[in-house]
Amino acid sequence: MNKEKEIEEQKSYINKVKEMNKGKDLKYTILTMGCQLNENDSEKICGMAEEMGYTKTQNQKDADLAIFNTCCVRENAEDKLFGKLGELKKLKEQKGIIIAIGGCMMQEKHIIDKIKESYPFVDIVFGTHTLHKFPEDLYKSIQEKRKIEDVIDIDGEIYEGLPIKRDSNIKASVTIMNGCNNFCSYCIVPYVRGRERSRNPRDIINEVRELAKQGYKEITLLGQNVNSYLRVEKEKNIEFEEYEGVNSFATLLTAINKIDGIERIRFVSPHPKDFTDDVIDAIAKCEKVCKLVHLPLQSGNTKVLKEMNRKYTKEQYLNLVEKMKNRIPNLTLSTDIIVGFPGETDEEFEDTLDVVRKVKFEQVYMFIYSRRVGTPGDKMENQVPDDIKHVRFDKLKSLVESQIEENNKKYIGTIQKVLVEGESKNNKEMLTGRTDSNKVVIFEGNKDLINKIINLEIVSEHMWYLKGKEF
Ligand code: SF4
Repeated sequence: MNKEKEIEEQKSYINKVKEMNKGKDLKYTILTMGCQLNENDSEKICGMAEEMGYTKTQNQKDADLAIFNTCCVRENAEDKLFGKLGELKKLKEQKGIIIAIGGCMMQEKHIIDKIKESYPFVDIVFGTHTLHKFPEDLYKSIQEKRKIEDVIDIDGEIYEGLPIKRDSNIKASVTIMNGCNNFCSYCIVPYVRGRERSRNPRDIINEVRELAKQGYKEITLLGQNVNSYLRVEKEKNIEFEEYEGVNSFATLLTAINKIDGIERIRFVSPHPKDFTDDVIDAIAKCEKVCKLVHLPLQSGNTKVLKEMNRKYTKEQYLNLVEKMKNRIPNLTLSTDIIVGFPGETDEEFEDTLDVVRKVKFEQVYMFIYSRRVGTPGDKMENQVPDDIKHVRFDKLKSLVESQIEENNKKYIGTIQKVLVEGESKNNKEMLTGRTDSNKVVIFEGNKDLINKIINLEIVSEHMWYLKGKEF
């Protein structure tokens, strides 16, 4: 069946479930684990659930349908899922709640086996390549009163036209590509999300235009490897329609920059090896593209980077940073770092600290290396003991925190353009927003300012946020 027909069929299942649910006031909960791509997938699952007649509740006890969208990048996500399933067993017995689990973890055989063995009350299991079939799976589970396992192992397809229920009405994520061809040796993504494939330029541009029409101000372009957008298609001569001049990541940024109403463009995650000059120039020239760039480092040591299969050296990374800083005015950088990759010695870890000292990142997402079944890293014999990993992690954390403190001071007295997102979660009297460099700023102000970009003078700094006043 072609993809358009497949989506039409799923829409007919949406209507069938909606009909079954008529007048029943049914509710659903969703727990999303993992990255922004997973959050975007969850918005699609929520869109389908709501069209099928379910309304969202935060209270699990009220729910008739509990959905988990899982991630398998970190080991503790498994413990979290299994803990939650244990809690749901009672609700299953008391009121027959339907339990559906999807996402990356379901692409792993040992996880499915564990669910079948220890949590046989789970109704639906679906994978990353069958998310669009959630309506059909739910319908069959209810109608035929049987367990559904809908997981396939393919390179992956892109389906357009699924309903979506977004979490925010100010900021929206737009997936531009799926899958990954890089096979970093610690990462499970290529095995669970399949090969790299890009969405058509026309579909992306139209989605962003529609978001602008609905009043969204900030767009985040998502992909496992965003700056290789359309690369595989070109390399393999896979036909794609060039639309409004879009035939690469740089031209995509340029085209979205022209869309009226959109005021900020962000993207995650690029790969340093694919950071070509045209992308650097597009970031510099496009006034709406935020000047905070996320540039995953992972390790600052060339030998460890080679073992990680990252395809750049410490020097190449530092040269790239230098080039970007020279060409992009007001550039700030954030990064990801993994501590304790197999074989990493104390001296090699020092190289990571050295890069952090030199680059002075605005934000560092730090991770302790966690073994993932099925990856080359898991098979390496020289695993670093946990206590050493923790010592290194704490060292990195204190360096990063001292840099954040120092960096925050630079904001005091400056005027920052802040996109106002809403009331502060911790203090309803204050509003919260973010700078171009993604710093949280809280300030006193009128609620009319929500969803506007305003100038704030920064008056004080705190570890994780700044305080501002209207200027
Ligand atoms: S680039 Fe590397 S870390 Fe990122 S998704 Fe692909 S394999 Fe994983």
